[in-house]
Amino acid sequence: MGYYTPPVYNTSGMKSDLAQESENFLRHAVASAMSGYEPRDSQTRMLEACAEILDSGGILMAEAGTGTGKTFAYLIPIILSGKKALISTRTINLQEQLASKDLAFLASLKKFSYVIAKGRGHYICLRRLYAFQPADTEETAEHKRVVEWADETDNGDIEEFSLHKKPLIWDRVCSDADACRGKKCGYLRGCSYFAARRKWEAADILVTNHALLAVNAMLDDDKKLLPPSEALVIDEAHSLDSVVSDQIGIDLSEGGMERIFNKLLKVDQRGVYKGHLSKSPELFSDVEELKVKAGLFWTRVRASVENRRVIKGGFALKEELSGLADSIASLLEKIRTSALNLFTEDEELDLKAELLRLRALREEIGIFPEEQAGYVRWAEIEGNRTALRMSPIYPSGFIRENLLPHYASAVLTSATLSVSGDFSLMEDILGITGAARLALPSPFDIKKQVRVEIRKGIDLQQDNGPARLAEVILKEASRKKGGTLALFTSRAVMSRTWQLCSEGLKTAGLNPMTQGEMSNRKMLEIMRAGTDSVIFGLDSFWEGVDVKGDALNCLIITKLPFEVPTEPLVVARTEEIRKKGGNPFRDYSLPRAILKFKQGFGRLIRSKDDTGRVIVCDERILTKNYGRQFLAGIE
Ligand code: SF4
Repeated sequence: MGYYTPPVYNTSGMKSDLAQESENFLRHAVASAMSGYEPRDSQTRMLEACAEILDSGGILMAEAGTGTGKTFAYLIPIILSGKKALISTRTINLQEQLASKDLAFLASLKKFSYVIAKGRGHYICLRRLYAFQPADTEETAEHKRVVEWADETDNGDIEEFSLHKKPLIWDRVCSDADACRGKKCGYLRGCSYFAARRKWEAADILVTNHALLAVNAMLDDDKKLLPPSEALVIDEAHSLDSVVSDQIGIDLSEGGMERIFNKLLKVDQRGVYKGHLSKSPELFSDVEELKVKAGLFWTRVRASVENRRVIKGGFALKEELSGLADSIASLLEKIRTSALNLFTEDEELDLKAELLRLRALREEIGIFPEEQAGYVRWAEIEGNRTALRMSPIYPSGFIRENLLPHYASAVLTSATLSVSGDFSLMEDILGITGAARLALPSPFDIKKQVRVEIRKGIDLQQDNGPARLAEVILKEASRKKGGTLALFTSRAVMSRTWQLCSEGLKTAGLNPMTQGEMSNRKMLEIMRAGTDSVIFGLDSFWEGVDVKGDALNCLIITKLPFEVPTEPLVVARTEEIRKKGGNPFRDYSLPRAILKFKQGFGRLIRSKDDTGRVIVCDERILTKNYGRQFLAGIE
């Protein structure tokens, strides 16, 4: 049973022409061209709702369970409407998949144009490439390979580079807004980035990602990168919140600072000065002093600031930060008066781009020390990373005021936007008001296809918790009925459990893999190729895993995925709810965990023929009152 609130403007209850036309297209053109196509009521309903929103304007929140065919449900009305549309999805992989599969198929049935839009740093800059001065033999070889590729490529997109891995010199030869000569550039006619921008302008459908969508929304109207569109679709809309927050927040990291300083000046292994300021010896001591000061600052952060604890009021190391900002300001002034004009035009352009980054760094340093309403600050001191972070508590204001108003119609869709048809959590987080809503369950027969089993007596807070969990994983995977995915919520528990059972899994003839030992993509490729894989995965495996058949038929949910209550963003959000008189558990933690549980659960059944078992190793699903809401969320 789905939940559909018809848009208020469609009072007649009649299907619009566009809805009818889209349905006909789906039932005839698509059905006859696609082998094995089966009509799905949920897909038709979503298609109609998308057509209504395109016709009348407004926002549609459309939750569509696995197997609905939501991509065709929004693409077909867009294509038939003839409106220019922007489709945003979470990752570049998903962009490529949408273009190469769904859009390519639909374009074989109906004429329209589409193209992928990526951030500027994905495209080659010929000016920087030909001005590049390799510093050693490795750079010379890399440069040669990139030049050869640049001569042949049609689109200059690094993803096409034959080595499938970004060359080491890429950030010094890719397109960069701050180092671009624009209309004065001698390479403008062959410039990949501007050629791509022209294609973006001309295309009927532009496929972008959430990060570029957020960056675009931050720019003034005359500086927008993406062309205006009448319609916007945000696919994987459940992830928009975190991507937008990352873009509009601050991430001041030790590594990031070092990278900026090293681009200005760095001593290589042979003691030779390299970098943009290597021709200005009078500035060497200033840069070196700045590096020392920054190093001391980060040492003090590690010594005196607690990892992932909310920073309230004025920042304790405010004086040190302001000393750093002063040193950067003084270096900027010295460079302005003494170092510019010493270089070739190309060198100077790159130096100016670095100076802009240095200026932006100084600005962020200036913002961080004081508390800002609606933002939360914390430090991250983990492994090799030390950073100061500032993030909006909710990106709702930004999305409502800067992002959505540019589009007459917007569809936000995902498999997880509601808790049993209630969209209020996601609407609050994303700043959505007055939207039409549609919640469509998966058309698969989940009750028949999945057996849910609950294992009791595993408490991961207790010392023996990982050992009991390891026993369950070993026993279930050893049944050898297909691949197993164990989803964890804590790295420490995952590592401990891995230590306890990975050898046993190998001895049982299985192929265990744990997140981090190779790329997620590689692990999933291996899983798809056989039926003996056992993957131990954290956050990124709770979503986006699409493995059909016996390659994955056992999903182990090690713990109900409540967010860690001490995480800064969670602390700030729960405080805000409490201030407004709400109940943080009921209004935030529980629905958030249910959405994530649904995401994880959705990894198992990817087609109507898939079957499998979900083993939940958290008895709270039975013993707590709220437990049944998790089960209701997946029925
Ligand atoms: S126009 Fe800008 S991005 Fe293009 S080649 Fe010239 S400098 Fe590079």
